Amino acid sequence: MNINTDQIDNFIAGTSEALNPLTMGYGMVTLHEVSHKYNNLIDGIVGSDGKEYPASSIYGVQGDNVKKMNIIRTELDASGNFTLPFGQRRSYSPLDEGGVNFHPFSSEAKSIGPSKVNPKKDLFIKTPYNKFK
Ligand SMILES: [Zn+2]
Repeated sequence: MNINTDQIDNFIAGTSEALNPLTMGYGMVTLHEVSHKYNNLIDGIVGSDGKEYPASSIYGVQGDNVKKMNIIRTELDASGNFTLPFGQRRSYSPLDEGGVNFHPFSSEAKSIGPSKVNPKKDLFIKTPYNKFK
């Protein structure tokens, strides 16, 4: 398992004020990686033809593993143990725009987009642009 601590630190630091900074913290990223192996899920989608369609280049595609992680986010929010929501990761691949990688965690943030989202209200993460994501 490969965990990039610089990337996780950037996720935490780039989390909007309205979103729980744990949503892409060390625990959730580790669970994501464990889920690849344990649940045998890819970041893309396995089609009805049995072929694998990657999500790494298509903004807005969640992919099978992200969908599974979003169930955990729903459970954490329903637990009532956190003041800030974990949101729902709307895309595996971020949107590269204006020098940042934009990761929406609500459908509202996804439709508003990186230049118009409100950090006090909208659920998103912005990280420094990185072509490797
Ligand atoms: Zn993954």
